Amino acid sequence: MTSTAATTAITELRRALGEEKVSTAPVDLIANGRAVWPVELKQARRAMLGEIEFDIPACVVRPGSTDDVCTVLRIADELRVPVIPYGGGSGIVGGTVPPPGSISLDTKALNHIDVDPVSMIARVGAGCFGIELETALNSQGFTFGHYPQSLYVSTVGGWIATRASGTFSTLHGNIEDRVIGLDVVLPGGKLLSLAPSPRSATGPDLKSCFIGSEGAFGVITAATLELVPTGRPRLHQACVFPTFQQGLDAVQHFIQAGARPAVVRLYDSGETAHKFANFSIPAEGAMLLLIFEGTGTIIERESEVVEEICRGAGGHSAGAGPVDHWWQTRFDTSSLAAGNCGEGGYADAIEVSALWGDLPAVYASMLQVATDHGARAFAHVSHVYQSGACLYVIFAGEAKTDRDAIDAYQAVVDGLLASCLANNGAVSHHHGVGRGKARSLAAQHGPAGMEALTALKQAFDPHNIMNPGVLGLGEMVR
Ligand SMILES: Cc1cc2nc3c(=O)[nH]c(=O)nc-3n(C[C@H](O)[C@H](O)[C@H](O)COP(=O)(O)OP(=O)(O)OC[C@H]3O[C@@H](n4cnc5c(N)ncnc54)[C@H](O)[C@@H]3O)c2cc1C
Repeated sequence: MTSTAATTAITELRRALGEEKVSTAPVDLIANGRAVWPVELKQARRAMLGEIEFDIPACVVRPGSTDDVCTVLRIADELRVPVIPYGGGSGIVGGTVPPPGSISLDTKALNHIDVDPVSMIARVGAGCFGIELETALNSQGFTFGHYPQSLYVSTVGGWIATRASGTFSTLHGNIEDRVIGLDVVLPGGKLLSLAPSPRSATGPDLKSCFIGSEGAFGVITAATLELVPTGRPRLHQACVFPTFQQGLDAVQHFIQAGARPAVVRLYDSGETAHKFANFSIPAEGAMLLLIFEGTGTIIERESEVVEEICRGAGGHSAGAGPVDHWWQTRFDTSSLAAGNCGEGGYADAIEVSALWGDLPAVYASMLQVATDHGARAFAHVSHVYQSGACLYVIFAGEAKTDRDAIDAYQAVVDGLLASCLANNGAVSHHHGVGRGKARSLAAQHGPAGMEALTALKQAFDPHNIMNPGVLGLGEMVR
C-alpha cells in the first residue's frame, strides 16, 4: 500500500459515492482513529500533549446503503487499500487502530430498523446504536434483550463482529444465539446474503464465520435479530456468601439444576467491598445479584428454588436493595475510565471464561499475577453456563509516565492471559481479540488453529485489505 493508492482511492470514492460521504477533515480522522483500548487512550493522551502523532486513517467513508459498501470494498480491493470497519468505536481490544493510508468505513448511516411482529424479528442496519434499536423496538412492544454495558455507544454490527454479550445473557443468550440472518459485503464488493431462518441444516453455518470476525473478513451491513416482548415481570434478589468460593458453588449448583435467572453476577470480596460499601457486608463477603424475568408464577417458584440452593451453600438473602443499586448504576464505567485518564495511570477489565472445574484456579492465578505486577485487582463472575462461566478481572495500576504505563499495562495483560491459559481458560469471553490479545490467541489455538483461521482469511480476503492485524491475521501495513 502506498500513499498514492490512498489518494487515488479518495478520488475514486468521492466520484462514486459523492463528496459528502468521504471526509478527510482532521476532526473525523482523529475521531475514527481510536476507540477505547487502554493503549489507545494512553496514546491519545500522549498525542494531545504533543509527545507523539495520532494514528489516523487517510479518510472516513460513511456509506448510506449496502450498495455503497460494495462500491467501497471494490475500490479498496482494486487499489489494495486497507479498510477498517468502524461502528461505535467502543471496542476495548484495539480492533479499529488504523494503519496509515487506510479507509475508516463508518457504518453509522446504515441504521434502518424493520420489525416483523408476526415472526418477532427485526431486520436492522449494522450501524444502528444499541439504544436506537431499543427505543425503536420498545415503542412497538419488543426488546432485543441484549444490554451490554456499552448499550449507548456500541452498534449492532460491532456486537456481531466482536461476539458480544449483554448483561441478561443467562436467559436471553449471547449475540450468536440471537442473529438469524446476516448481510456481509466481501472484499471485491460481492454481497453475501444469509437469509433468516429459525434453524437450518444446510451445511456449516456460514453466519458463524462472521460472528466474531472483527472486520477481518468483510463488512456486516445488516442482521436479522430475534426479539422478546417487553413488560415481562422481573424479580430482583441478592444474596451474600461468607466467601467467593461458596458463591461459586451455589451458582454452579442452581445453573446445573436448570434455573435460568436473566442476570447472574457474583462479586469477590474485593469488588463487593468496592461496589456495595453502603450495604454493611462482612469483610470476606461475596455479593450475588440475581434478576429473574418471565411469567409471574414461574419466576417466583424459580427464585425460591435458587434461594434454597444459595442458603444450602452458606448464603443469606440481602433483599432487592443491592440489585436495585446495580440497576441504577449499570451503565456507569467512570472509575475504569478515570484509571486511564491521569499521567501514568492504567486500568482495564479483562474477561475470560473457564469450566467450573478450572474457574477457582483461573481466578486465584489471575489475581496473583495482577498483585505480582503491583496492580490492584478484584473480580466478578457473570454470563454463566451449565459448564462454566465468564470471569472479569478488573485491575488498575500506576507507572511514572504514560509511555511506561503502556508497557506496564501490556505486561499485566500478557501475564493475566498466560495464567488464564495455563489453567485451561479462554482468553476472551466477549470483548474479542483485536490487536491487544492477538499474541495470546495464537497460544490459545496453537499452530493448527491459527492455520485454519489464516486459511479463512485468505479465502475471504486474499489481498489482506480487511482490518489487517486483528485476530493476529494479516500483518498491519506500516
Ligand atoms: C464502557 C464499556 C462497556 C462495555 N461493555 C460491554 C459489554 O457489556 N459486553 C460486551 O460484549 N462488550 C462490552 N464492551 C466492549 C464493546 O462495547 C463491544 O466490543 C462492542 O460490541 C463494540 O461495538 P462497536 O459498535 O463500538 O464496535 P467498534 O468498536 O467500532 O468495532 C469493534 C470491532 O468490530 C469491527 N466492526 C465494527 N462494526 C463492524 C461491521 N459492521 N462489520 C464488520 N466489522 C465491524 C471493528 O472493525 C472492530 O474490529 C464495552 C466497552 C465499553 C467502552
